[in-house]
Amino acid sequence: MKHASAGRSTRAIHGTTVTDAHGAPHIPVYNTTTFAFENTAALLDVADGRVRGPLYTRYGLNPTIFALEETMASIEGTENALAFCSGMAAETALFAHYGREGIVCVGDAYGGTMELLGNQLAQLGITTTFLLGDQLDRLEESLGDGAKLVFFETPTNPALGIYDITALADLAHRYGAKVAVDNTFASPVNQRPLELGADLVSYSATKYLGGHSDVTAGFVLGTTELVEPLNAWRKSFGSAISPETAAVLSRSLRTLVVRVRQHNANAQAVAEAMEADPRVSRVLYPGLPSFPGHAIAAKQMSGFGGVVTVEVAADADTTVQVVDRLELFALAPSLGGVESLVTQPVTTTHYDLTPEERERRGITGSMIRLSIGLEDADDLIADLTQALDVVGH
Ligand code: PLP
Repeated sequence: MKHASAGRSTRAIHGTTVTDAHGAPHIPVYNTTTFAFENTAALLDVADGRVRGPLYTRYGLNPTIFALEETMASIEGTENALAFCSGMAAETALFAHYGREGIVCVGDAYGGTMELLGNQLAQLGITTTFLLGDQLDRLEESLGDGAKLVFFETPTNPALGIYDITALADLAHRYGAKVAVDNTFASPVNQRPLELGADLVSYSATKYLGGHSDVTAGFVLGTTELVEPLNAWRKSFGSAISPETAAVLSRSLRTLVVRVRQHNANAQAVAEAMEADPRVSRVLYPGLPSFPGHAIAAKQMSGFGGVVTVEVAADADTTVQVVDRLELFALAPSLGGVESLVTQPVTTTHYDLTPEERERRGITGSMIRLSIGLEDADDLIADLTQALDVVGH
């Protein structure tokens, strides 16, 4: 890691030691699938891992990918980063390697993660116990039964549930289990789970790390000892990031800190405006003192992120009208980009759940998830205010 003692913005720009023969300030796209060697001994040095160098792009052994991974590890403040072709690919390698003796998924998680754990991995004999926030007393039981991986998001999607990383890590470690945190919503600018006791951190880089809704990628980070075993899974699953995507993502990382700070500021302004609007019955945002997870969030986060979830004081049909009247917010199922997006969890992330399961998770038809972008906050608030006029009280 280069510039280990430097600030995060500096590391985001100068965090890699990979250099280019022509002195390019940033590593260009090495758009080749393979790399040639002087002789067989040199080839075997790389193939056997004695020397780190380019070899074959599907193995992730490509200079553009190295530069991205070094920069990301530097931003996170850890030894090692592995870049994948999506957040789901990153999770698949993580669960395949560390979940074989059982996984406990704490709290709500992205719908795709629940599908992977509950359906596909279950078919392969990797079992997951899902515990919601009010069932944490059962965590010790699951750990006692031998589960060796505790996985959770904080803040969660879409209700921004907050989990105490240090407390959960302490408990899991007492049973010899590893803790992996999906830090997608917070980004390393707002929260660093490894410093709080987690063993591994994963990302959908498709969100804030990419930041412009034009990159699909993922990461797993941690010490070399813990991350290195995932290399073989990535190689055999064929799930490494492409050099083209790695170059775009490296460019995005250079502005990560300033982007996330502005997402935080805009989201706080929108959350406060929505809390003051009588046509909104509830605002879920960790930066609001009224939010149940605020105290823990304030302890473990240095910013509260760009996602605000609101509950409209109206029925599900009227809520759909509010969503459809929004002009600046695009109706699209993602988050973390420069442009603001809106979704209803009941029609996107939690569409496949039964009504009972949605109720158990507190997902209602009046709920709207806002990904607050980098437009002027006043314009976003004005758009929400005009859309809420259909509520009529
Ligand atoms: N984790 C979280 C919290 C997400 O929101 C998502 C996608 O929405 C994923 C993981 C999966 O990431 P990807 O879409 O990059 O595969």
